[in-house]
Amino acid sequence: MYYFRNIYRAVRTVAAGLKVTLPYHFARTVVVQYPDVEPTLQPRYRGFHTYQIERCIACEACAKACPVGAIRVAKSGPRKIDKARDLAVGGAITQYQIDYTTCLFCGLCTEVCPTECLKMGSIHDNSCYRREELVTDFIRLAKQGRRTIEPLWLTKPNLPAWAARVRDFWRNRDRDRREWMARADDPEYCAALAKQAAPPKEGVS
Ligand code: SF4
Ligand code: SF4
Repeated sequence: MYYFRNIYRAVRTVAAGLKVTLPYHFARTVVVQYPDVEPTLQPRYRGFHTYQIERCIACEACAKACPVGAIRVAKSGPRKIDKARDLAVGGAITQYQIDYTTCLFCGLCTEVCPTECLKMGSIHDNSCYRREELVTDFIRLAKQGRRTIEPLWLTKPNLPAWAARVRDFWRNRDRDRREWMARADDPEYCAALAKQAAPPKEGVS
């Protein structure tokens, strides 16, 4: 009796599973021939971060908000925003790293940033050969004039048109702010920028 009941249960269980999965065998398959065809990213897609180092006040709010401790920030002294130039001046940023081996792409770090210099970007793929390459040093990127990662596939010579457009967009962005970006880790340069900042108006704290 138990023997036949077990057979019945097994068949019923398999049938219940097939009821869910079988229709997919006959559904239309949608395949994007990536990387030849550009993947469709939704407007609020959370990809690899973009970071405006010259507007970062190194307050560490992003690092504190990160649930996995993926962000490391260090500075040589306090930084504040010079509103006239939309620029952070004072101490230098001596470290800004995000560890993408642990990042969840939750976006919490961007929500707490008081200067909105850290945002979730649209680069979706950071394929590389070694795990260490996933720890991104944004100071090194800033010295190369970059706001976000440039993964290996974006450096290949014969890119599809859409990828070349993405590469050129990030390579050409904010050319007029390149010196500020490249020298944001230089204490003397940042101190000199602070001296050039307009003094606060009287009566305004
Ligand atoms: S929260 Fe924003 S301003 Fe503060 S350290 Fe992070 S990126 Fe810089
Ligand atoms: S997206 Fe989330 S997990 Fe990644 S660095 Fe920001 S707070 Fe941390």
